[in-house]
Amino acid sequence: MPALNVPIVSDRTFNPLDAVKIRWFRSRLKDWGRENRRDFPWRRTSEPYAILVAELLLQKTAAATVAPIFQELLDRYPTLADLAAAPGKEISSLLQPLGLFSRTEKLLEAVQVILENYHGEIPSTEAELLQLPGVGKYIARSVCAHAFGQPAAVLDVNVARILERFFGIDGGKVKSRSPELWEAADRVAPKQEVSTWNLGLLDFGAAVCTAKNPRCGECPLQQRCDDYRSKINVR
Ligand code: SF4
Repeated sequence: MPALNVPIVSDRTFNPLDAVKIRWFRSRLKDWGRENRRDFPWRRTSEPYAILVAELLLQKTAAATVAPIFQELLDRYPTLADLAAAPGKEISSLLQPLGLFSRTEKLLEAVQVILENYHGEIPSTEAELLQLPGVGKYIARSVCAHAFGQPAAVLDVNVARILERFFGIDGGKVKSRSPELWEAADRVAPKQEVSTWNLGLLDFGAAVCTAKNPRCGECPLQQRCDDYRSKINVR
C-alpha cells in the first residue's frame, strides 16, 4: 500500500489549527499588558549590559527583591568594564541578599568571557549568548528581545503555566525543555515588539494566571481557556 502523505503528529504537539484561538489570545493579552505591565528599572532601558545583568540577577528571585540591588549594582558599576575591574568580594557582598552564591560566580565568569571573546560587547545572538556561563535559553532570548529588538519569545514557569492552561498543552515535568511549550511560545508571540509581549506574559502569569488560586473570575482569557472550561464542564 502506498504511504499516505500525512505528517505524523504527536498528540502533545501544539495544534496548528488553533490560529483563530491564537489570534484571540494574543489580542486579549496585548490589551491586558497595555493596562497592567509592571515597571522595573531594567524595563526602562534597552542597554544590553543592564539587561544581561538584570536577567542573571532575576534567576529564581522575585523582581521586587532584585530591583534595589540591580539599581545599586548599576550605580556602582555602570559599565561592563567597571564590573570586571571590581573586587569579587565587593560584588558578592552586594548580591548576598539575593542568595545563590553561584550567581556572583556566574556573573563574573560571563563578564570575563564577554571581555575576552567579544571585546567587552554583549553578544547579540541567541547562539552566542548561550555560550556564556549562567545563560540558558530563557535569558538568551530575553536579552535578544529586550536589548536587541529581536523577535525572540521566552518561556519560563509563568509563561508555561498560561500556555498549558489556556491551550490545554501538556508540557511534561521540565517545562523549560518542552518542545511543545517552546513551539507554542513562538507561535503565540506577535511578529513585532516581542519584548513588550514577553513582559506582558510574565506579568499576567504573576498577577492573574497564578500558580495557586488563579484569578479566573477576572481573567480576560476565561471565555476560551481550556482549563477554565474543563473546570466548569463547558464543551
Ligand atoms: S481562565 Fe484562569 S486558568 Fe485560564 S488563563 Fe485565565 S486565570 Fe489562567
